[in-house]
Amino acid sequence: MTRMIPLLERNEQFARTYSPAALGLPAAQVVVVACLDHRADPAIVLGLQLGDAPVIRNAGGRVTPAVIDDIAFLAFLVEQLSGGQAAAGRLFEVAVIHHTQCGTGFLADTAFRQHAAEATGLPEAALAASAVADPHATVKADVERLLTSPLLSPKVSVSGHVYDIATGLVTTTVDARSPSGGHKPDDSIRPGYRR
Ligand SMILES: [Zn+2]
Repeated sequence: MTRMIPLLERNEQFARTYSPAALGLPAAQVVVVACLDHRADPAIVLGLQLGDAPVIRNAGGRVTPAVIDDIAFLAFLVEQLSGGQAAAGRLFEVAVIHHTQCGTGFLADTAFRQHAAEATGLPEAALAASAVADPHATVKADVERLLTSPLLSPKVSVSGHVYDIATGLVTTTVDARSPSGGHKPDDSIRPGYRR
């Protein structure tokens, strides 16, 4: 038995009218970074169709080293698919979306975080880094983190948004902009940053 049975039935319904999207550039020219929360699914909230936008999800929708790696690879892939013709800021926009009532907000509480670290074996620092207590503040910090990463292509732009669970509305906190300096090897060593 699997709890997937009712979902597989829904999939059969889906497949009846399905037509596959061709391999190509994301139609919306956007890559979404968002929380894994089941109340904040970007496909539903933003009305994304198949082929519109790659979506990267983790706890909080945080810009982690793994997320930066994925975006660096996506920029390479999109550049290849577009024949290397993209100008600065023109490959795609990365939209970082944090949300209100995020479950990671509990991790801002020291006692809760210590308990979570002991119970799961995860490093307390990693749990602290994923906390979203104030989504407007964390989304700004994560847009900066991505813009200052030496791995970010200068042909990519980054914006920040907050999804309000209570109203269903997404508001823009940080307008889209590209990294100012491009790749600077001297900037590659930052305190607390992995590479
Ligand atoms: Zn969340």
